Amino acid sequence: MQDSNAAQTTSGTGLQGQSRRRLNALGMDREAWAALLEELGEKPYRVEQILKWLHHRFVDDFADMTDISKKLRTELAERCEIREPEIVSEHLSTDGTRKWLIRAAGGSAVEMVFIPEPNRGTLCVSSQVGCALDCKFCATGKQGFNSNLTAAEIVGQVRIAVQTLADAYPERERVVTNVVLMGMGEPLLNFDAVTPAVDLMMDDLGYGISKRRVTISTAGVVPGIYRLAERTDASLAISLHAPNDALRDELVPINRKYPIAELLKACRSYAGNLGEKRTVTVEYTLLNGVNDQPEHAAQMVELLRDFPCKINLIPFNPFPGSGFERPTVTSVRAFQHRLASAGLSVTVRTTRGEDIDAACGQLVGSVADRTRRQARYRRLASAS
Ligand code: SAH
Repeated sequence: MQDSNAAQTTSGTGLQGQSRRRLNALGMDREAWAALLEELGEKPYRVEQILKWLHHRFVDDFADMTDISKKLRTELAERCEIREPEIVSEHLSTDGTRKWLIRAAGGSAVEMVFIPEPNRGTLCVSSQVGCALDCKFCATGKQGFNSNLTAAEIVGQVRIAVQTLADAYPERERVVTNVVLMGMGEPLLNFDAVTPAVDLMMDDLGYGISKRRVTISTAGVVPGIYRLAERTDASLAISLHAPNDALRDELVPINRKYPIAELLKACRSYAGNLGEKRTVTVEYTLLNGVNDQPEHAAQMVELLRDFPCKINLIPFNPFPGSGFERPTVTSVRAFQHRLASAGLSVTVRTTRGEDIDAACGQLVGSVADRTRRQARYRRLASAS
């Protein structure tokens, strides 16, 4: 059972201040259900029934699970709650991108983004409120860390999107075809909640999304990558952003702890688990005049020449007070060309949802318990 999935609720006994922990059923993967049902003396096939009620039929009450006994329904209701995160607001971009503000425990909120394309729909979900890693060009990083989301709050974002989008795209059999953990937060610093959530996204009894299409993106938490390999074969993306340690130390401070060579070694090891034809994605945000020069492209070629990967260039998405600029389209193309002509596989991520601040690195949610870093950032932003 995942501790990170436990929710605090009042007992309803009327005793002031008394509370007990109930599990949020939405964050429980097969393993967690199997353990609970065994404890309750129930047959393993109940796992299948319960998961389908929760993630295919979206029931919000155990009483509605009509193919299981009343006794078990009552027992489950005593032990668990079914609580989907609440939508605070929804915004629709002129390009069809949607952004939702989702309430998290403690009064904070995180953002989730849906990016429709002709043949697929990508949902970008958050894993934490804020982020501790302080990457210099990321709006979420500027806020500092507030809290971890629970497994239910992470997979709950997919649950919300699947239900909400069905009406918007009646012609599509499956609206959410891809999930990327590229919203707010560093997924590998919330490992125990992220892994069951990812299990549920990939499970046929959950959201049935192919393991190739569920991607965990990390700024480079190296021990987390090795741990992840033991636990899942979801796709992996790393946020490289610089081709040498001196520059990466500045842009992505976790590099001081886990430098590039260690990060790439961990990725090779992870890729070994993925099997033929699947490689790690290397994200590289292009910052004008900082990491987009010909010498950076040459160093990238040197670094990744023998490293099987797909490189995804992300033109920087500006936000107030960031201190960085987006390179011109010509300069992005030139950088791409230098890598491609050396034989590297490289694409440029299209900027989507900019008019609603939904592009990569622009997600800030709303953090109730503001850290000093966030207050400082707000002062800077309002001064600029
Ligand atoms: N914490 C995860 C997910 C971050 S968001 C990670 O670090 O991988 C997904 C990608 O967007 C990351 O590569 C991140 O570094 C990048 N990013 C952050 N801010 C950005 C911005 N303002 N413009 C463009 N890309 C940005």
